[in-house]
Amino acid sequence: MHEYKLTRSNRKTLAIHIRNGEVEVKAPQKLAQAEIDKFVGSKADWIAKNLAVSAGKKEQRESFTLNYGDCILYRGAKYPITARPSDRIGFDKAEEHFYVPSNLTSEEIKSACVQIYRMLAKNHITSRVLYFAKSMNVTPIAVKINSAKSRWGSCSGWKSLNFSWRLIMADDDIIDYVVVHELAHLTEMNHSPRFWKIVEKVIPNYAELKERLRIISEKLSVEDWDYNAEKDYLEQQEKESEGGVKYHYGSYKSILSAKNGMNLYRGCTHGCIYCDSRSECYDMQHDFEDIEVKTNAVEILERQLISRRAPCMIATGAMCDPYIHLEESLQITRQCLQLIEKYGFGLAILTKSSRILRDIELLKRINTKTKCVVQMTMTTFDEKLCKIIEPDVSTTAERFAVLQEMKQAEIPTVVWLSPILPFINDTEENLRGLLDYCVRAGVKGVIFFGAGVTMRAGNWQYFADKLDVHFPGIKHKYIQAFGDGYICNSPNNSKLTALLKSECKHHGIICNTDEVFRYMQEFNSR
Ligand code: SF4
Repeated sequence: MHEYKLTRSNRKTLAIHIRNGEVEVKAPQKLAQAEIDKFVGSKADWIAKNLAVSAGKKEQRESFTLNYGDCILYRGAKYPITARPSDRIGFDKAEEHFYVPSNLTSEEIKSACVQIYRMLAKNHITSRVLYFAKSMNVTPIAVKINSAKSRWGSCSGWKSLNFSWRLIMADDDIIDYVVVHELAHLTEMNHSPRFWKIVEKVIPNYAELKERLRIISEKLSVEDWDYNAEKDYLEQQEKESEGGVKYHYGSYKSILSAKNGMNLYRGCTHGCIYCDSRSECYDMQHDFEDIEVKTNAVEILERQLISRRAPCMIATGAMCDPYIHLEESLQITRQCLQLIEKYGFGLAILTKSSRILRDIELLKRINTKTKCVVQMTMTTFDEKLCKIIEPDVSTTAERFAVLQEMKQAEIPTVVWLSPILPFINDTEENLRGLLDYCVRAGVKGVIFFGAGVTMRAGNWQYFADKLDVHFPGIKHKYIQAFGDGYICNSPNNSKLTALLKSECKHHGIICNTDEVFRYMQEFNSR
């Protein structure tokens, strides 16, 4: 007879499980040992057959490795892993491949791919949760991505939904089934007929999808995605990238401010080290990088646009960037722009991300009908410095490319040359480089509040920590020069302001801040 591990519980029947080459027998508390042995003996052939299958799977799992050129699943299709000569990792939609640095070992490739999967899972699954939550009339309080191996999803008692990153390998309809399954638990915590009715209402063919999910589980059971913790890309980069971002959901009564500004998310994943929006005065109830999604933003904007007496310019605020990473999948900004176009309003939109190019056709249409102004922030001409002070967003050169695209599309642009960080990029060379970009891109105006930055409780602490890491000794200079003052102006401020004014005058760029704002607020219907 086969050896087995016995687990007794309050169950009424006997069951045999084979896992990782071991036999486990589950038995009722008081069942006699002889009865159990007899049962196990009667299943000897079945046990032998399944032990052989299990040993085969174990062998396959142990030999599972990942190398450049291997193809791995993403939303039901397979894509190759390619090497790139940079530290970045990700999934290139246009070129349809996963990319990782070129000098990784097999174990590190696996670790990097898991991190990419987590990012992809977070974006796609969160967007599907938002999509179905609306029609199912439920509101989860958070969506988290975990590393569960045997549970595709789960729903906690406090309405937080968890999904395994592995789910992103499945076909879209299977992912939707798991999402709907977990959302249904917000109404029915069990698997009763009432629960399945809720699922069936949204996914009528759920039984077929359940079966396909089982087949995927079976396929993945021979792939060992665990990796050596020392090669953990996630661990190394989670804090610096979007890998560790959590999402929160908020329902709002109003989206437009009195001056017709709107911040479509709360928090930002672009990581600018000087960002004022981290300041305590804004009373963010969660880490700045953990995004609060305004779930009803589109609905409310539509109501508010309809109720405005006359169309006007709508501006995106500076508290978050409308093109954060999550926008790729949620498309809340895009939907709001569609409403702005539909109701004949104008738009002044501010970003640092080239993701805005996704919506260029929409921006053109708004500009044809009324007026659209694209604003980009540029703070440093030096690409390396840019990756340090604004690490998770398009570089200045990429932003310049966006400005050129806008010029070609005849969409007017304004550049915010702010902040200019004292003792870091407050040089004539930097300002000349940035202004040269502005001239070549034919910008209408620049916003320049002087060469300096503002600091207060919240953003100062974050900034000071980053100074210690990237610019040793500079924190001390800030403390000496500005103490705990709010405005930290560069010693070169007067010289740089004079340079800016003369260059702008020479090239016909508006640099009077009031005048630039007036221009952006002035509504034209064509
Ligand atoms: S893009 Fe804007 S909101 Fe986002 S971190 Fe940078 S400064 Fe802050």
